[in-house]
Amino acid sequence: MKKIYTASLLLFFSFNLLAQSPQNWTSADIYLAIKKLNVLGSVLYMAAHPDDENTRLIAYLSKDKLYRTGYLSLTRGDGGQNLIGDEQGIDLGLIRTQELLSARRIDGGEQFFTRAFDFGFSKNPEETFTKWDREKILSDVVWVIRKFQPDIIITRFPTTGEGGHGHHTASAILANEAFPVAADPAKFVDQLKYVQPWQVKRILWNTFNFGATNTQRDDQFKLDVGGYNPLLGKSYGEIAAESRSNHKSQGFGAAAGRGEAIEFFTATNGDQPKTDLLEGIDVSWKRVKGGEAIEKMVNDIASSFDFLHPENSVKSLVQLYKALNSMPAGYWRDKKLSETKQLIEQCSSLWMDVFTTEQFAVQTDSIRFNFQFNNRLGVNTTLKGFSVNGYDSSMNLQLTKNRNINFAKTFFVPSSKPITQPYWLENKMELGYYNVTDQTKIGIPDIEPSYTVSIKANVEGEDFTFSRNVKYKFTDPVKGELYWPLVVVPPVLITPAEDLKIIMNDNDKTDGGLSLKGMKRDFSGKVVALSEKEKTTLTNFSFTSPKIKFNTKGQVLGFDYSGKDIKSSTNVLFAVTDTAGKNLLTHDKHEIKYDHIPAINYFHDADVSMKVVKVETYGKKIGYIVGAGDKVPEALEQMGFEVNRLNQKELSKNTLDKFDAIIVGVRAYNTIDWLGNYYDKLMKYVENGGNLIVQYNTSNFISNVKTKMGPYDFTITRNRITDENAKVNFLKPEHPSLNFPNKITEDDFKGWIQERSIYDAVDSTGKFEKILSMNDPGEGQDEGSLLIAKYGRGYFTYTGLVFFRELPAGVPGAYRLLANLIALNRKKAF
Ligand SMILES: [Zn+2]
Repeated sequence: MKKIYTASLLLFFSFNLLAQSPQNWTSADIYLAIKKLNVLGSVLYMAAHPDDENTRLIAYLSKDKLYRTGYLSLTRGDGGQNLIGDEQGIDLGLIRTQELLSARRIDGGEQFFTRAFDFGFSKNPEETFTKWDREKILSDVVWVIRKFQPDIIITRFPTTGEGGHGHHTASAILANEAFPVAADPAKFVDQLKYVQPWQVKRILWNTFNFGATNTQRDDQFKLDVGGYNPLLGKSYGEIAAESRSNHKSQGFGAAAGRGEAIEFFTATNGDQPKTDLLEGIDVSWKRVKGGEAIEKMVNDIASSFDFLHPENSVKSLVQLYKALNSMPAGYWRDKKLSETKQLIEQCSSLWMDVFTTEQFAVQTDSIRFNFQFNNRLGVNTTLKGFSVNGYDSSMNLQLTKNRNINFAKTFFVPSSKPITQPYWLENKMELGYYNVTDQTKIGIPDIEPSYTVSIKANVEGEDFTFSRNVKYKFTDPVKGELYWPLVVVPPVLITPAEDLKIIMNDNDKTDGGLSLKGMKRDFSGKVVALSEKEKTTLTNFSFTSPKIKFNTKGQVLGFDYSGKDIKSSTNVLFAVTDTAGKNLLTHDKHEIKYDHIPAINYFHDADVSMKVVKVETYGKKIGYIVGAGDKVPEALEQMGFEVNRLNQKELSKNTLDKFDAIIVGVRAYNTIDWLGNYYDKLMKYVENGGNLIVQYNTSNFISNVKTKMGPYDFTITRNRITDENAKVNFLKPEHPSLNFPNKITEDDFKGWIQERSIYDAVDSTGKFEKILSMNDPGEGQDEGSLLIAKYGRGYFTYTGLVFFRELPAGVPGAYRLLANLIALNRKKAF
């Protein structure tokens, strides 16, 4: 609990843009933080996704009103579209988590999440709750409320559906449901080991005007949040735009707002405010017994604050710290005690840094920590010692003004030191939520740091313990000095060449490759194949040579495996044992790197899912035009097709006739500006007996398709079938797409994941054959998921069916149906 507390505080007071670097505040930041010591009010904003939150309001509440302000996003935004790469699901959630943390560093809010997984678009809250475990997510909301103890909650969306997305409505339903539950000591009793019941004063819905939907009314409570903060040199609209522009994976670069900005609110629980959001709540020190004296001390510190000499305030801050420390523990006293400690550190301008020059700390190897101290303003400070991971050292070192103190210490990383895994990925996840069993971790936004150093120092006569997370520090020639998380890794990483093996038809054999990376020198052992559950050796798998020896750090070795007697679907876990046979290493590491966020590393099992799929294919060569990025080409290769990825150069010089089919990757027409120039060439290819298959493209505010795609016009809509089990009706049961070379039946639509189709089309010319129809609960039949037209001697297909999701998941029916679409022209047969 204590750790969470400190971490969130650090976050709250980070004014710097660079996520991981040590923070030093300007005098203006410090002055605001001193003023804030006298504000004892808090607001929790609640919605469903990264980007739902009202950053202008959050900036105003945290930097003008100086309230403790939080944003609870139920999900990490794992679903939806990624405009900067091909990451989906968990990976995208990790990226958006970092983007959201960057946003909060700018607008001053604190970030929280629940376990809920953003599984993609949901049309209504009923559907949402069939995937989320409603009771678990409610428990998480209650937990965050009891821990954060907000005076009021503000929801972005209403319970009545005007928010559109089912997750949005669900977030408002859960907020209002949690209102009485959080205060009820008979509910979620297990939480009371750590927290107390908490009665929120009121819940307000922050109504909106999103153009098509205007829920703002004149009788609602109104508040101008468009002010200007001269200490920061920015209006709250400007801070909001900076904050919001961190959502780069969603393309939410935002323009800065200036001038009056009215927000509208209406109470959905508790009384309607008339003059102030926190009306009826005393936000001064009067709410704490014996707090009046503190208020006066803070006022004195603020009025005597010297912007050129913040260090002159340290003595009185230490006095304030002592006064707070002698008061009984309690929410606001504890909060302000920590804030005061942070202010003492910042006013002293103490530089305390602990870093490594390597990104990874390797189990069973050693790592060197570099310590750096500087008492830059010459405050009376003595360094007394530090402790990290069970190691303690003491010293008595008076720090002279602006002198660098450097020392280093090498630590052994035992095999028992856990790898640095995001806590929400430690257990296998469920369909609709992350499986987190440790109550105290719920709500924490970020990956927990691998090492935290406690630094003991005496400042102006008082002993303090400061803490620093150990970071990897390096200098990039272009970006300059960077701090990334230090990551604990196993001594060997195992990467299978493919994580899905499609074994075609009745062939029961397969072979594949692994690459092993030695993270330390002089590691020997052997590689084995295990059953995923029992971790017993699989005797039907063998290696050309299972022995391993790494001579240098970072060395990569390749291994071939072959398996036989594979009867049906099976999961194989590849592992490495060291020579002593003591440690079993089973992990692969995945790294996500983008310029705007620190590198993200997480681990997953080095397992391969082997699926026997009965699929007949026709044709051999496929041209693939890569769009926004998807894993369809890899799946086609598994099916035995030869895939040529067609870039502009390839497309311009190639004769396309050699391709049995050309498949256009997801959102290619949205993301490739030159693709429209090849319309004529592609149509000629179709006319001459080719086969062009276009996967979904979007029609929305970010990216409208401007060019033609097919021989006849059709309209891309925003219709989608989100129910992955929706019954599929065959409108043209005799059509070759449902018959050759694979007979498609209802069984082929079993086991689909997430959804059936997105951005379905409407045939506006009557030239297309509509093959399938399906519907979401309570809606009419949609006939636009698979449109096929004959043109000349060839075929054109537009499909919203989510092959890009189903193929990597190994869904057999998706393979069989795609094989049929590829066989449509049967070109070679004539
Ligand atoms: Zn949303």
